[in-house]
Amino acid sequence: MRAGSETQKGNTTVNLLIGLAIVSLCFLAVWWYEKQAVESVPPQFADELEDEGSAIEEPDAPSGAIPEDPPDTLPGDEDEDIPPTDTPLTDAQGDVFAYLPVGDLLPLSGPGFVDDTVYRPDIVFPTEDRVFLNSQVYRYGGYQGSLNGMEGGQCEIANYDYPWQDTFCEKRSRNQDLCPGGGHEGLDIRPASCTKNVHWAVAVEDARVIDVRRHWVTLQTADGTIYNYLHLNMGALEVALGDDVAQGQRIGVISNDFYNSDGSSVATTIHLHFEMYENYVASDGADPLFTKVNPYMTLVSAYDAKLRE
Ligand SMILES: [Zn+2]
Repeated sequence: MRAGSETQKGNTTVNLLIGLAIVSLCFLAVWWYEKQAVESVPPQFADELEDEGSAIEEPDAPSGAIPEDPPDTLPGDEDEDIPPTDTPLTDAQGDVFAYLPVGDLLPLSGPGFVDDTVYRPDIVFPTEDRVFLNSQVYRYGGYQGSLNGMEGGQCEIANYDYPWQDTFCEKRSRNQDLCPGGGHEGLDIRPASCTKNVHWAVAVEDARVIDVRRHWVTLQTADGTIYNYLHLNMGALEVALGDDVAQGQRIGVISNDFYNSDGSSVATTIHLHFEMYENYVASDGADPLFTKVNPYMTLVSAYDAKLRE
């Protein structure tokens, strides 16, 4: 019985080994078949397979981990506390505000005068609506417009567009301290539309009306700065000589009033001519000169602030 029992045990062991060998062979066969199938895929599909495979197998980055090569910030990802630095400023009509550099005048219109001083950083812009700073003489509608191939009327659509352009020291017959060859003592501001007597000019800061005559209104601040507003509708002013005006208060509507000293009328375009007297300090160390300075960058600064409101 003992010998028979031992023979039976030996048979069982042999059967188990045979079984294991068969199972192993089956696994080996399946592995070989799959390997052959992958290798027989045409190369172009093999690439796709590989891409798909790598995409699926790429482990998700652990949350909070900093990627080695951070992607560019996606829209909407910005931290709301930090304003985007390069967002273009748009006006009330959705047009992007742009301006040419100070002193960069139209060709053949004068040397310009480079002064990037923001003389009064806290003024408000002198008009309520959007405006376009550009030449009234050397563009469409101006008597020298043909010099730059800009022949047409003042209401030409191109006159009512950005970028702004400086007109301080634009060539004129008049001399002034900073434009000794004869030049424009202020900046010309075209209102939002080519319609007179509808667009308001406002006081840039708290001031007193110290002069009203012919076609200009003069304001002076308590610390001495003087502003001239020219070509308003002088028959419909909102202020009078001696008035104290508050910053932003309406002065009058932009028109084309222009009178000689004898009271005769002179033709001009619809615009506000804006002047500013400040202490001009030259780089040569000369004493400051209280004169008509270039308000260009002061106005750019004020308009920028207005568009951000
Ligand atoms: Zn002017």
